Amino acid sequence: MRQTLVMGNWKLNGSKTMVHELISALKAPAADAASVAVAVCPPVLFLGQAEAELAGSPIALGAQDADINTSGAFTGENSPAMYKEFGVKYVLVGHSERRTLHNESDAVVAAKFAAVLEQNLVPVLCIGETLEQFEAGETQAVVERQLQAVIDRCGMEALGRAVIAYEPVWAIGTGKTATPEIAQGVHSAIRQFLAAQSATVAAGVQILYGGSVKGDSAAGLFAMEDIDGALVGGAALKADEFAAIIRAGA
Ligand code: PGA
Repeated sequence: MRQTLVMGNWKLNGSKTMVHELISALKAPAADAASVAVAVCPPVLFLGQAEAELAGSPIALGAQDADINTSGAFTGENSPAMYKEFGVKYVLVGHSERRTLHNESDAVVAAKFAAVLEQNLVPVLCIGETLEQFEAGETQAVVERQLQAVIDRCGMEALGRAVIAYEPVWAIGTGKTATPEIAQGVHSAIRQFLAAQSATVAAGVQILYGGSVKGDSAAGLFAMEDIDGALVGGAALKADEFAAIIRAGA
């Protein structure tokens, strides 16, 4: 059975005080919901503090992006090898904000996926369609193209060592969550697409839903057969709200 995974993506938010307060408030709910895997992805600058604050807690640490290089003359970048030193387990790749604001192509995302796996970290591959593509009925074609770029570069078995996050761009930060039925439809189609290439990988890979998930919408999403957790943005910055999402997965 696939374990429910609840990940908080803090994006460009945080301060030393917030890292301390948020992590302190999440330790007990995460420990109580022992069946749920929980992770937080603070900005890179706070990884060291977060690692220290998380000591002894079951909450895992994630990063929001990674460079494809390990080291060298790449000003401003951070590598998966560096994340390892801070106890990072997960690395988001291909978040829609990276694809849009930083022009990351499917090929770049696939290269980042490979670089993360190379360090034995878990890539969380974010995929999803824009509102325009949703309205044009292109959802399935878009997510399949995004997945296939990674499969072509890294192979199916690599996907079995990753997590997939389906995040319709029109639902991110907009307050418009996809209904559990819409999300389940896409998740199920993703799993069928993967099953055509590897039944084992398709059955085992966790597919998270992301896009305006809140404490009161999480349970309905998690009840769906192919939704294995959530990637949470805004609600991950509020301890009570994020704790409610964690509890919904237990
Ligand atoms: P949101 O963000 O929960 O604020 O919609 C989700 C995400 O971007 O991962």
